[in-house]
Amino acid sequence: MDQAADTIWIAEQAKGIGFDLCGVVRAEKFPELENTKDWLKRGYAGEMNYLFDPRREDPRGAMPGVQSVIVCLLNYNTDHPLSLDAKPRGQEHDPRGWISRYAWGDDYHDVLKERLQALVVLLRERFPEPFEARAYVDTGPVQERVVAKYAGLGWLGKNTLLLNQALGSYFFLGVILTTLDLEPALGEGETPPPDLCGSCRRCLEACPTQAFVEPYVMDARKCISYLTIELRGSIPKELREPMGNHVFGCDICQDVCPWNRRAPASPLVEFQPRALPRHREKASEAASQAEEDSLFIPGLDWLLTLSQEDFRRVFRGSPLKRAKWRGLVRNACIAAGNSGIRPGGTSYARILVSLQKLAACDDATVAESAQWALSRIQ
Ligand code: SF4
Ligand code: SF4
Repeated sequence: MDQAADTIWIAEQAKGIGFDLCGVVRAEKFPELENTKDWLKRGYAGEMNYLFDPRREDPRGAMPGVQSVIVCLLNYNTDHPLSLDAKPRGQEHDPRGWISRYAWGDDYHDVLKERLQALVVLLRERFPEPFEARAYVDTGPVQERVVAKYAGLGWLGKNTLLLNQALGSYFFLGVILTTLDLEPALGEGETPPPDLCGSCRRCLEACPTQAFVEPYVMDARKCISYLTIELRGSIPKELREPMGNHVFGCDICQDVCPWNRRAPASPLVEFQPRALPRHREKASEAASQAEEDSLFIPGLDWLLTLSQEDFRRVFRGSPLKRAKWRGLVRNACIAAGNSGIRPGGTSYARILVSLQKLAACDDATVAESAQWALSRIQ
């Protein structure tokens, strides 16, 4: 069978399954994978020990006999305001936390994995010979962004993310490693899409914690995504104020990117903001019903009263599980400390009481974060 036709067929099947783009690349060592070693040596990975897995240095180390990588891209950009525009009326009375756009809906690992497995089923129908295929969504020893670049899906921007001229950067990547010898999407002599960042520096300048050491290099230890999701202990004091109202992840270096200005919206229900149980007797006058009841800028007073049991129930099948109760409530404390609320506001009394309870709780990290917040609002 014609190998080029196979690659076109795979891309078509991926689109039929619901992916926005798909590319194929030969499993080999790409220059960016070599640079990662230096990045790790400089300590920029913080506590993310899984990034030190030597198999991440070369896709050929990730699975015996792997020859090709199929990279699939899925847009998660639901039609809601950007973090920089989402300043609800009455924020000073009814403060809200920002959850990263990718985490509003169902866990993307599950959503993508299901689609990737459907693609593997189709591959087995097309290729009757025995072959291995493993699907990974963030979970394998593969640097998805780098292989995606060489599969022709975009360029690595100064904010370190994969950017696509038509789709921007609000998308997930999933990969299938396979022993099939497939024709790469980029033909002989073709290079990956050019870097279209040009002289732009918006992401570098907008980052509130100055996490970019230089263009294309991020010190993850300073990144709000790392601080709010990966870091297990206390958030370093000097980074608390710049965190603002972020309680899970951060979108700023994507929200300011001109390539996201016209990023298409995803209609997928899986990524729409998850509805929350009603938690107040009456909705705040300052907030819309939609804001009140979903993971799109949820109220801090609600987050601060979450019990461990509530957390498990509300965030089952949600990416927020990763932060664990302790991480999310710690982050909500920091956001409350940054909220600027003052006595007399609609939710001041509720937040004060919640913080006082948390300041006395058994968890040292949460207690200390709550004490910090109290010192800022009293
Ligand atoms: S995600 Fe936020 S904190 Fe992290 S680098 Fe981007 S702008 Fe900075
Ligand atoms: S904001 Fe500008 S520099 Fe940063 S990734 Fe987007 S285009 Fe590149």
